[in-house]
Parts: sequence; structure tokens; C-alpha cells
Amino acid sequence: MRAYCDTCGTERDCHIVLRDETYPVRGERVTVRAKVLICNVCGTDLFDVALDERNVELAFREYRRRRGLVSKDDIIRTRAMHNLSQEGLATLLGWSSDTVERYELGALPSAPHSEQLRRFRDDLNYAKELFDARNAQLGTLERLRVGKQLERLSVTSKHQDQDFDPGWLLVTYST
Ligand SMILES: [Zn+2]
Repeated sequence: MRAYCDTCGTERDCHIVLRDETYPVRGERVTVRAKVLICNVCGTDLFDVALDERNVELAFREYRRRRGLVSKDDIIRTRAMHNLSQEGLATLLGWSSDTVERYELGALPSAPHSEQLRRFRDDLNYAKELFDARNAQLGTLERLRVGKQLERLSVTSKHQDQDFDPGWLLVTYST
């Protein structure tokens, strides 16, 4: 493996070490087991975009875990459960249109957004409330699709309340 070393002023052989590194995430210090590229000749750290992205991603993941924030997979699954597009979910939650997209690309959700997303996922009545209030802002097809899905989910949850096995219904939207 070779990379340009600023200290040596030329391209050098290099290797990767695992080392604890601390990253600031929203003013909090988060330490992760980082992968760092090292020059074989002078021992200096070399910057590597891919390794840096991976380390930051690890720090974000640790911060999410500590704060109990939803992950991008939580958001993707919630959308799938409700048959919602990224923009559709943002609309129902009252967020700006590209917010869900940013979160699914790995941006950290704010604590209130995380809380609201979780409530939308876990509380069907809340999801219906938001749908009733804002469905006019969805496109026609999405409005129909999401409305149908909400009905399906209601039927399923009623059956669950009665200890009915809803397996045949779950098949249509389980991930
Ligand atoms: Zn060097």
C-alpha cells in the first residue's frame, strides 16, 4: 500500500493501525477504535478519505447508541412499514423535504426528530393523526398507498390485541 506523505515529501509505503481516537460529535467527545494510515518511513499519520469517513461513521454510531437516537435503518424500516417515500415521511412529520434523505445518508437526527420518528413507528394512532392532518400535501398515488397501508396496519394491530395470529397480514410488509 502506498500513499503521499507530507512529512517525507514523497510517496511512501504505508500501513494501517487500529488506535483509539476521539471525535467531537455535537460537542461531546466520542472515542472509537479508529483505523489510521501510517507512513512506514517516518511514522507520521497520513490522511485517508475512506478511513476518515469510516471512523466518523463509527463515532456517529456510538453517539447514536449513547443518546438512544434512531438509526438510518430504523428510518428506512419505518418508511417501508408505512409505504412512504422519503419526502412523504418528511411531509407527514412536518420536516423539511430533504430531511429524511439526509438522515438515511447517515446524518445524525436531532433528539426531537428521533423521538417523533419513534412515536410515528410505534404509535399507530399518532401516525393516523399525522396522516389525517397532512395527507393533502402528499401526491395522489402516495396518499392512496399510505392510506391503504394504514388501514392494513390497523386491522393487524386489532387482531394482535385479540391474540390473533396475523401472520398472513404481516407477510405483506415485513422486512
Ligand atoms: Zn513519511
